[in-house]
Amino acid sequence: MRQYEVIVIGGGHAGCEAAHASARFGVKTLLLTMKIETVGQMSCNPAIGGIGKSHLAREIDALDGLMCKIADNSALQRRTLNSRKGPAVRATRIQTCRNAYKRNMQKAMQEEESLDITQSTVSELIVKNNEIKGVITEHGEKIYGNCVILTAGTFLGGRIHIGQKSFEAGRSGDKAANELEKFFRDYPFSIGRLKTGTPPRIKRASINFEKLEPQMSDIEQPKISYLYDHYGQKPDQIEEIPCHITYTNEEAHNIIKNSKNLSPLYNGTITATGPRYCPSIEDKVEKFGDKSEHQIFLEPETTNNFEIYPNGLSTSLPLETQQKFLQTIQGLENCVITQPGYAIEYSYFDPRCLDNTLETKHINNLFFAGQINGTTGYEEAAAQGILAGINASLKVKELEKWCPERNEAYLGVLVDDLITLGVSEPYRMFTSRAEHRLRLREDNADERLTGKGFKLGVVSKKRMSLFEEKLKKIENESKRLKGIEIKPGTTASEDLEKKLGITLRRPQQLKHFLKMSNVSYQDLQSLNCFGITANSDIGHIIANNEKYAGYLRKQDQEMKFLANQQKLLIPRNINYKEISGLTNEAVEALSRVMPKNIEQAARIPGVTPATISLLRVFIKKNNFN
Ligand code: FAD
Repeated sequence: MRQYEVIVIGGGHAGCEAAHASARFGVKTLLLTMKIETVGQMSCNPAIGGIGKSHLAREIDALDGLMCKIADNSALQRRTLNSRKGPAVRATRIQTCRNAYKRNMQKAMQEEESLDITQSTVSELIVKNNEIKGVITEHGEKIYGNCVILTAGTFLGGRIHIGQKSFEAGRSGDKAANELEKFFRDYPFSIGRLKTGTPPRIKRASINFEKLEPQMSDIEQPKISYLYDHYGQKPDQIEEIPCHITYTNEEAHNIIKNSKNLSPLYNGTITATGPRYCPSIEDKVEKFGDKSEHQIFLEPETTNNFEIYPNGLSTSLPLETQQKFLQTIQGLENCVITQPGYAIEYSYFDPRCLDNTLETKHINNLFFAGQINGTTGYEEAAAQGILAGINASLKVKELEKWCPERNEAYLGVLVDDLITLGVSEPYRMFTSRAEHRLRLREDNADERLTGKGFKLGVVSKKRMSLFEEKLKKIENESKRLKGIEIKPGTTASEDLEKKLGITLRRPQQLKHFLKMSNVSYQDLQSLNCFGITANSDIGHIIANNEKYAGYLRKQDQEMKFLANQQKLLIPRNINYKEISGLTNEAVEALSRVMPKNIEQAARIPGVTPATISLLRVFIKKNNFN
């Protein structure tokens, strides 16, 4: 009989982070997945990061997770998005070689001592008295575990659509997990359907790049992991490959419009909702009828550069129609499709069935993470995976559970949004979702989370000591800049005026100038009085901290206010029906979510300020707090 402390079902982005995090705790972990060769597979676009997503990725990195290290070591192209905007919304995006990503992920997983990996499809869970006991595979093997984390992605009841053809599948080339989906129908989970899609892949050699605009990496070659310079493992000599830009046109749009009745999205075959921010080309042509073109990025998929991913052309039209409209696009006139685009419908769980550790409310010690909770995207999945892995391990070790608050991490925002609001469409992270986004920057995720992760047990000693070294460097450089004073009337102040256009009226520390929105650390480096320093990355962090210090003080006050609100906890056993004056809608919404405090309750749709004041009075009157 096989017995583990934590069993993770699924080797996608959520599953890998969950299993690795759990193994980092030294907890005996099993990763069970349909095919070992697909561990770490990128189902769609081979890129990590991007707006909002790189913030989550950096938080995974700060907790010693895998995603960023693997992406850096598999990179084909590196860019900083929103580089002209403030640091809070800047984002790193790494285009990777999908084969290298998978290979590096599998290597990292195999290196973890406490982690076993087995190829098998789980068809049932073993549950006794509402507590998980293990899993049953399709071959009837029973494997026992104290905690189980389910990360089945798009596989539960998955159905692929290409034109009028449709068939059961978890994604292209993989079977659907139908038995497991059926198993959950006997439990009081609310199960819905969502959909997503992917573009056709194109043979690189059939594209005429001469007519197209290339897009190279940024000169600075940004890295997404904080540890890029530290962990010995260097990229396996991956060569940079450029992306190219092209556009759809009216002819392509007409072909798409005229084929509408062949698209399962429009002929009523697919009724599930897809990702708003990643629409299919059918949707774009329909919803933005006034646009005569849409931008398409032709992105490399692998180092062998055999296939190209046309980002922006997700479609479920018949293969012949895909071929027809592609060939109207500049550069793609003679293109050959290597894999058709398709849409996939799949089942997901209403995430309001979870608490903030991602443990289900219906079955103890069972956790859900990733796409099955209604999210879309690798980073969203991986972030949930690491959280579930941490909490399953904490549970095994009988330690207190953990979830960052909304003001500590995007991970906190993600989980809180999911478990409080639920989803009506695939949930994607954006910086605009975070009310504390000035604090939650890409550059300070380690300052926010690494120390915490070390205390919990998920961050290694090595990672922690690298972080401490970095903090020391920040402190030293900060002190150094404070120690350089420029006085009016000196050659240094003339230099300041000449190079940065700043006229000095009284002595100022060099560090002071970083508060100015138009002065960067690089600007200071150009001054003669600057001297020599170790690391400009450190300088950028100091500059960002200086620039945001005022705003952050204001936010601190707001947070104090919110924290006071949060103090009013709602007891787990509250019966909302007993509160007189609450509408049925409010009772239903509150009972479904079972918020942990007043602040969370206030954000539930259908809960009004009047409901909150009744709730406050009820809690106070009954001396719950
Ligand atoms: P997955 O990566 O799907 O991994 C699921 C894992 O579970 C797999 O390893 C599978 O083998 C395993 N598994 C499933 N059932 C069982 C079982 N019963 N027993 C054992 N193992 C099991 N995201 C975007 O952000 N933008 C997009 O445009 C986009 N397009 C997509 C298009 C397609 C066609 C697909 C399939 C996905 C797309 N995604 C997109 C979503 C992205 O791929 C997912 O968000 C991400 O992969 C989810 O990670 P996950 O770990 O939750 O699940």
